[in-house]
Amino acid sequence: MRSTIIILTALIITAPAYGGQGVAPVIVEHGPRDSRKVALTFDACRTGLADEYDEKVVEVLLREKVPATIFMSGRWVDKNRDKTKYLSEQPQFEIANHSYYHPHMTEEPDTRVLLELKRTQALLKKVTGRKALYFRPPYGEVDGRVAAIAAGIGLTTIQYDIASGDPDPKLSARRIAQGVLQEAKGGSIIVFHVNRNGVHTAEALPEIIAGLRQRGFELVTVGEMLMTADTGTQGQGNVEKRGVSVPECGPTSITTEEYSKHD
Ligand SMILES: [Zn+2]
Repeated sequence: MRSTIIILTALIITAPAYGGQGVAPVIVEHGPRDSRKVALTFDACRTGLADEYDEKVVEVLLREKVPATIFMSGRWVDKNRDKTKYLSEQPQFEIANHSYYHPHMTEEPDTRVLLELKRTQALLKKVTGRKALYFRPPYGEVDGRVAAIAAGIGLTTIQYDIASGDPDPKLSARRIAQGVLQEAKGGSIIVFHVNRNGVHTAEALPEIIAGLRQRGFELVTVGEMLMTADTGTQGQGNVEKRGVSVPECGPTSITTEEYSKHD
């Protein structure tokens, strides 16, 4: 599962050539490797469970004062508006876009991809009063076309270089923590879940946080990590794409027909 890596494309964070609200059409899998910054990120999408909010995870992050980026699907936000608002009000958290219906974006036409992104942008703005700047594709599935559509409306596409594996019920808290700590490097972006799709996430976090800090890593949001790149410490470099498929939130896929009904 924690296996290998192919080189994807060049990472260019600043791109003054993109006017309007657009940003550079890149897929960011990690930040600058010469930094000591690590970003913990959490996905929140529908799971089909009655309760889709992992309070214990949030408690650990607040108690330990850990900045984090939380990628929310529009459907999750819709069902958990009070939680969304609460999370957005914590200064240490950054709220981001995780599509609306959580489809396989690379299989959807441009119009649907755009609708997924815009609808969640509008909802996040309405509920939190803030404009999200980052997008994480569902199922870790993304290509240049999807990233370019996201970039066109000001969203930078954020993947990860470390999958915590937290949706796997067979993975103990100890093993999750050990795996993450072994793999963490400067610039790492680590994916977890905050929707109870992660089974031992809250249990694993204290060891992960303490371990990373002990090794001199600074925990930051994705936004803070990319600002480092903006300063020119690493304007470009290789993006590593990990061949890992994370068991994801579900069942959340719907047909285009169902989708249009919701519009
Ligand atoms: Zn998801």
